[in-house]
Amino acid sequence: MKRIAILGSSGSIGKTTLKLIRQYKKEFSLEAVTVNSNVSSLEQQLAQFKPNKIAVVDKEARKKICASLAKGTQIYSGIEGLNRIASDKEVDIVVIAISGSFALYPLLAAIKANKQIALANKEAMVMAGSIITERLRNSQAKLIPVDSEQSAIFQCLEGKEKDKLKKIYLTASGGPLFNAPLKKFKHLRPQDVLRHPRWKMGKKITVDSATLMNKGLEVIESMWLFNMAVSNIQVLIHPEAIIHSMVEFIDGIILAQLGVTDMALPIQYALSYPRRLENKEYELDFLKVKRLTFKKADTRKFPCLDFAYQAARDGGSAPAVMNAANEEAVKAFLDERMGFIHIPQVIEKIMSKHKIILRPGLNAILAADGWAREEAKRLIPNLR
Ligand code: MG
Repeated sequence: MKRIAILGSSGSIGKTTLKLIRQYKKEFSLEAVTVNSNVSSLEQQLAQFKPNKIAVVDKEARKKICASLAKGTQIYSGIEGLNRIASDKEVDIVVIAISGSFALYPLLAAIKANKQIALANKEAMVMAGSIITERLRNSQAKLIPVDSEQSAIFQCLEGKEKDKLKKIYLTASGGPLFNAPLKKFKHLRPQDVLRHPRWKMGKKITVDSATLMNKGLEVIESMWLFNMAVSNIQVLIHPEAIIHSMVEFIDGIILAQLGVTDMALPIQYALSYPRRLENKEYELDFLKVKRLTFKKADTRKFPCLDFAYQAARDGGSAPAVMNAANEEAVKAFLDERMGFIHIPQVIEKIMSKHKIILRPGLNAILAADGWAREEAKRLIPNLR
């Protein structure tokens, strides 16, 4: 029986993980959950799963939940609470399902505690990939990616000679705006963008899918996860979202991972790894899919993808700055403080102003992240 902690249990990945824990009662138990501030979701989970420990990041939300807490449930708060749960002795698998660079702290805590980590967050790896991979190498922790593309690459590489990997093909559904004309982008509001054609996901990642920054973040993430030069990572728009990514070896042989478009599959694999569990819910009917198509990403329309390649080539603190600028820009767009077309403008301006620090330590990365956020806050109110 594997004991699971879910960081970010009220989000889309968190809820799917809970569904799997319920489905495989003999395999998994829920030891702990954390939320940022979603009290109603947490109350439901407490009633249904009775986890032993919880953490609530937001102070006000914590006060509210304390009143209705059953005896014996331990409650933690703030970022320390997340770190505490990520390194808890009674936890075997830590599912990191919170979005944003905030996930870096509990991720490092889980690595230090030698956990099996199911990582759904990409921002942490983008901002601090060199530090995370180094700490992983020096620990007994095992990181299993949950993101469908990274899970696909991870599975294709299992048991293979990793140094014979030549190229990664990262597939992308294209997001909610792939076929929308560029001249319409000016008028887009959050509700127009938050409708993804293939994947049901949280708000941040859905906006990132619309700008293709999500794919950009994945390019940087796979560079670190699979030790691949960024020039050997190619993004392919694949609207059917059946091939979840592919790897090519030096002999020209290509392996792909295919399946139904549902996050339950990669999440289940990250939980059951290295085993596989029977799941009859997801059967792909190739005769209904009929064909698989591929297109090139239009980076004039979606410049964020180019920014990510640029940041990856620049290295050092550049990806952290790009990521922080993007997080602030997406937040401002969702709050309707600026338009959709301003997202790439904000990122580009801040990236070009940043003096890159090569080989940054953790403090330098956090400082670069903070600097980019301050710049964004100054810039955003003056955009037209
Ligand atoms: Mg993905």
